[in-house]
Amino acid sequence: MAYEGPNRLAEWYTALREQVPVVRKGFADWLEQVREEPWLIWETPAVRYLVYGFGAFITVWCVTFVIGFITPPPPKGAREQATSADFHVVCVDASCHNHFVMRREFGFDDFPVQCPKCMKQSGQAARPCNSQTCGGRWVAPVEANGKKTCPVCGGVFP
Ligand SMILES: [Zn+2]
Ligand SMILES: [Zn+2]
Repeated sequence: MAYEGPNRLAEWYTALREQVPVVRKGFADWLEQVREEPWLIWETPAVRYLVYGFGAFITVWCVTFVIGFITPPPPKGAREQATSADFHVVCVDASCHNHFVMRREFGFDDFPVQCPKCMKQSGQAARPCNSQTCGGRWVAPVEANGKKTCPVCGGVFP
């Protein structure tokens, strides 16, 4: 049993060696035939399938290239836009009232944030007040009786 492995290996090797001249002769015969009748090269399945495979590969490659060509590339910063948004912020410091826009992750609500003008932690989430007095001014709503109201004109936000 212990010698089965090497023995079998030797058998295979012998068998392979016996095949080599056959294969070589077969190949030589095939070359000879092809030389006489060139269309025979197409009759050989190995060659034919190789060409088919190569053709299929080229086709897939071309299709992939064309699809990639006609599909417009994603606009620059599309990924960034998908996960973040612009937040309007108003500084509620009495002597500042700076209005600025910052880019943060969607759903950001970690207010107050630092105001870039006065550097105080007094930046609050802002929304436009469309009352006649404010006319679309960005304000930081304040809570009054459970309602959000404008600190400038006192109007209640819907
Ligand atoms: Zn400020
Ligand atoms: Zn207002």
